Amino acid sequence: VKNTTVPNLDDSMNNTEEDEVDVVDLAANSLLNKLIRQSLVESSHRVEVLQKDPSSPLYSVKTFEELRLKEELLKGIYAMGFNRPSKIQEMALPMMLAHPPQNLIAQSQSGTGKTAAFVLAMLSRVDASEPFPQCLCLAPTYELALQTGRVVEQMGKFCVDVQVMYAIRGNPIPRSADVTQQIVIGTPGTVLDWYFKRKLIDLTKIRVFVLDEADVMIATQGFSDQSIRIQRALSSECQMLLFSATFEDSVWQFAGRIIPDPNVIKLRKEELTLNNIRQYYVLCESRKDKYQALCNIYGGITIGQAIIFCQTRRNAKWLTVEMMQDGHQVSLLSGELTVDQRASIIQRFRDGKEKVLITTNVCARGIDVKQITIVVNFDLPVNQLEEPDYETYLHRIGRTGRFGKKGLAFNMIEVNKLPLLMKIQDHFNSSIKQLNPEDMDEIE
Ligand code: ADP
Repeated sequence: VKNTTVPNLDDSMNNTEEDEVDVVDLAANSLLNKLIRQSLVESSHRVEVLQKDPSSPLYSVKTFEELRLKEELLKGIYAMGFNRPSKIQEMALPMMLAHPPQNLIAQSQSGTGKTAAFVLAMLSRVDASEPFPQCLCLAPTYELALQTGRVVEQMGKFCVDVQVMYAIRGNPIPRSADVTQQIVIGTPGTVLDWYFKRKLIDLTKIRVFVLDEADVMIATQGFSDQSIRIQRALSSECQMLLFSATFEDSVWQFAGRIIPDPNVIKLRKEELTLNNIRQYYVLCESRKDKYQALCNIYGGITIGQAIIFCQTRRNAKWLTVEMMQDGHQVSLLSGELTVDQRASIIQRFRDGKEKVLITTNVCARGIDVKQITIVVNFDLPVNQLEEPDYETYLHRIGRTGRFGKKGLAFNMIEVNKLPLLMKIQDHFNSSIKQLNPEDMDEIE
């Protein structure tokens, strides 16, 4: 696959106010996840399948050979280092590659092989000798579109005449030119514009329509309606595929509207638990006091790597400066950084270049904390009503039962926040012990 037109990206991450709580930006998180992902994410759950026609046989594959792919495509897959289909791919690929084509709604967490699956489906259905768009993939942002494009290029490395075009803002194409690329990846607004206004693509000729990151898509104003308008313009023969990492009711409703007669595949996420985590709290008077307690803990036990969570950017910055001045090697990860910068900080931390990572809420979900033994809540996570944010607490500290290691968690608590901590303890029905930071022996 040749990449004809990669646009220049301007720096598009939105920065919010300096000392505010970082808001979680779904699209940015999703991109970060892709940038730092190193391998497939495991799940001990079984793949659940709901067939459109329950009487038809259900195929699954254990090898890529069984799929009878084009030679050059199989070569591309092996060149990427894939040996066998992922759990979700075992079930999804036979459906996606079936004749006649079947529609599919698939949900599984990020990192389980969805993108690779639909890229494979697109590449296996394009006819390289026909110079017009045949596959259309909608993505929520242009950075995410580019990531998908990269996978097309990698996997399609040996499909020499297949080309990709990005229908995204900031990628102008000459007025007179026809779009000759077989695969178009773009955001809904620009795709609509290219179809209705500029008549650059003929949607009736699309054979495979992919709607990726449906949960992020519907969280973006206007994208659901635009996607539905695009879908309405497709032919009834077009194969329609929808993917999402999460599946709240709103995503199901949207999926039901946009994908007719679907098969449905779900892979449940490994649940997070606090079972393998010993949790402590330290009562403190002030921020300074919290810092002192942190230093005592730090001096008192042999620490591998630690992540410290703060509620605001201001606190996170303050703590970073304090620790640096005391000679610790720390790095700061906060929402004002671009996604690329965040990815590189996480990578350095993973490589052990820094032992401590200080961060705000924004990154609580982005990082795979498997290797990290210690998590510190320098501030307890709270919502806007100053109630405990249980979900965030669990995401910061929890591990998956089967794949996670044991860990330690420390909560630095000002006296007036103690009721919040007690609520957290009750909520999870797991004990959080008080710790005297002068006496670390209690930990063992
Ligand atoms: P998702 O779209 O669900 O987030 P991806 O398709 O991006 O998942 O896959 C996650 C990671 O696993 C990527 O690095 C990808 O290259 C890799 N991967 C995907 N499928 C396989 C496979 N069958 N074998 C090995 N690695 C895979």
